[in-house]
Amino acid sequence: MSGELATASDRPRLGAKVAAASFNPLRGRLFQKYILLFMGLVSAALLANAGVDLYFTYRTGELLLARLQMEKADAAAERISQFFTETEDQIGWTTHVQWAAGALDERRSDFFRLLRQVPAITELSELDGQGKEQLRVSRLAMDVVGSQADYSKDARFNEAVAHKLWFSPVYLRRGSEPYLTMAIARAGRGAGVTVAEVNLKLIWDVISSVRVGNTGYAFVVDRSGHLVAHPDISLVLRDTNFGGLPYVAAALQTVSDPNIPTADATVQTSFEGRRVLTAHAVLPDLGWVVFVELPMTEALAPLYASALRSGAVLLSGMAVATLVAMVLVRRMVGPIRLLQAGAARIGAGDLDSHIDVRTGDELEDLAGQFNTMAAQLREYNAGLERTVEERTRDLARSVTELQALSDVVRAVNSTLELRVVLTKIVAYAIELANADAGAIFRHNADDGTFELAGSSGMDTALLAKLRSTRVVSDETAMGEATETRQPVQIADMGLGPRYPLREAGFAAGFRAALIVPLIGPEQVLGDLVLVRRAIGAFEPSAIELMATFASQSALALQNAALFQELAEKGRQLELASEHKSQFLANMSHELRTPLNAILGYAELLADGIYGDLPEKPRGVLGRVQENGRNLLALINDVLDLAKIEAGQLTIHREDYDVASLVRNVVDAMEPLARAKRLSLTASVQPGLPAGFGDARRLQQVLVNLLGNAIKFTDAGEVAVSAGMTGARFNLAVRDTGPGIAPQDQAKIFEEFQQIDNSTTRRKGGTGLGLAISRKIVLMHGGHLSVVSAVGHGATFHVDIPVRVGSIAG
Ligand code: ADP
Repeated sequence: MSGELATASDRPRLGAKVAAASFNPLRGRLFQKYILLFMGLVSAALLANAGVDLYFTYRTGELLLARLQMEKADAAAERISQFFTETEDQIGWTTHVQWAAGALDERRSDFFRLLRQVPAITELSELDGQGKEQLRVSRLAMDVVGSQADYSKDARFNEAVAHKLWFSPVYLRRGSEPYLTMAIARAGRGAGVTVAEVNLKLIWDVISSVRVGNTGYAFVVDRSGHLVAHPDISLVLRDTNFGGLPYVAAALQTVSDPNIPTADATVQTSFEGRRVLTAHAVLPDLGWVVFVELPMTEALAPLYASALRSGAVLLSGMAVATLVAMVLVRRMVGPIRLLQAGAARIGAGDLDSHIDVRTGDELEDLAGQFNTMAAQLREYNAGLERTVEERTRDLARSVTELQALSDVVRAVNSTLELRVVLTKIVAYAIELANADAGAIFRHNADDGTFELAGSSGMDTALLAKLRSTRVVSDETAMGEATETRQPVQIADMGLGPRYPLREAGFAAGFRAALIVPLIGPEQVLGDLVLVRRAIGAFEPSAIELMATFASQSALALQNAALFQELAEKGRQLELASEHKSQFLANMSHELRTPLNAILGYAELLADGIYGDLPEKPRGVLGRVQENGRNLLALINDVLDLAKIEAGQLTIHREDYDVASLVRNVVDAMEPLARAKRLSLTASVQPGLPAGFGDARRLQQVLVNLLGNAIKFTDAGEVAVSAGMTGARFNLAVRDTGPGIAPQDQAKIFEEFQQIDNSTTRRKGGTGLGLAISRKIVLMHGGHLSVVSAVGHGATFHVDIPVRVGSIAG
């Protein structure tokens, strides 16, 4: 429940986070990438368009301009040439032969009329065939008639005669107005020439009126590059020469050489140093060139305007493109972001989250697939959880079973009380097999009967019934299980044959039973019986587990049987041992009496009570006495041992003196040592207190130790010492004999144990001395030990309390 609540409250928070993420359009790589791509594409397209547009505008503009310039130049040239043609025509009628032959007054009035008709002509003069001036009519001066001034050498006469028409270079009259002289030869040989001074102000007007854009202008130069007409008249008045400008020089060349083609309009650096678009037209008769010039700044102004327009269009296009791109990309990236956030949520384990993308395209499909995937994962998870739960349950059950088994095994191994073990087994079996009660029956193979051995969950009435009923193998389900060695199930006890046990169980309210045989190594030892109040079969796993329980029960039964057997054997052994000890004690006593008699008589014989004995029998008698004493010692030892085993050996506590005890023993053993040429020494710490214990037995111990020392030592010395530490006496018997190997040191204190080595074996003995000595010392509350190494002699230590407490003995 709490999990669901948490998810439900988490969801809006997550949603808000996603929404916040999609609100920031500048974040996210995809968004930027697409925006840049889109903008790049649109900009490239716009730029290309503007570039191409500009280029062609420029190209056509340039062409148009050039053509326009050319046309203007041509038009200006045309007007100038027309002016001169008209002037020539006007003057023309004065060049007829008849006119020159006319009266002076007529000619004079003709000249006046001409001056009136053509304002540009300021002066007319008539040269005769020899180049002599006959008449001059002027607007500004007095008429001159027959001056006879000689112009025969002048170009106006020569050139006109030679070429029919001659134009002088431009000259300035009165320093302000440009003029030229125009000479026309009269028809007929030697007919003379009419000379006219032509004011070029009109040409200046023509040139000034030529409109070339706002700041452009036209100008005219003569064949030598001198300015003939220019809107800035001062330049003309200053007699400026443009021949130095390369494009002017180039144009002038076409004047002198008509073969050179007239160039198109070109961009040049003007007289003022400006970049200009210039075109020109040639007046071949006059040898003049008309130039039309437009500053590039003006010529290119429309282009700049166009470029600016294109730029503006480009910028606004890009702005629009950005907006459109943002809208489009947001539309495109938004769902992707939603997908990403959703996938992240699913990845983080929020499998309930739903990705809501409604674009109607592949993205929506993808979202759908993600949702399906999450749903599948959810299902899979649920399945997994179920499996884990089941496994955990199984595991828990296995652990319980194992624990129960281990408890049972521990009980089987630690308790020998069969009923306790079997009851425990039954109790666990009931719990694990989900039964209500159970019992274990032992099978008696001899008569085929079953006997109740342990139970749990059964009421006393039923138990009494079970105990009192004699159950025979061949009429029960237990018999069947015992015979087939397989578990037997009774799913409904109300059905089937009515055996006595089944009757009893049924009466007690049980309806289903499971009987598992307890299989021993050789035979079936009995059956484990489990009963339920509900009708129905037991689960296979429970049956399997019960088989294990059954084998543990079999083990317990077997252990119990073995234990009983062992206990019986032990009891028998104990009895036998008791009999043996008793027999030995009796035997020793019975042997000692005749032996003492034999020794007594032998002593009497040796003492000569029955007369002196010859040498030979005396020797034999000596051996009889010695062997008799040995036999007596042996019997005494055996008797002591028997007494010890039968618990009949007691110690008699009395005060004793250690020094005299040691002295007595040394005195008694002295002859033996001497016989073997061994030095026997005794050292007793002076001032030892009186001991309290069995002096006779302690003396027996010392005799034994000293006897062994002398017996096993062939050369050197045997020393006895007595001292005290704390409240204990320390007695020691040291020899220089063969010594005892470490592995033998514990053995020598056991009954009938002798070291299996030729040196000591040869010395005879029974192997009882040390065993008896140790018992005696132990009964005194002390202990007997040995310190020895092979080849370095042996030292036996007796360590007893000075006063033996009343407990000992
Ligand atoms: P017995 O001397 O009658 O054989 P003991 O019980 O007195 O029996 O000694 C057991 C064995 O311990 C001896 O047979 C001997 O092998 C060994 N033993 C005892 N005392 C000595 C000793 N002082 N030096 C070497 N061996 C010894």
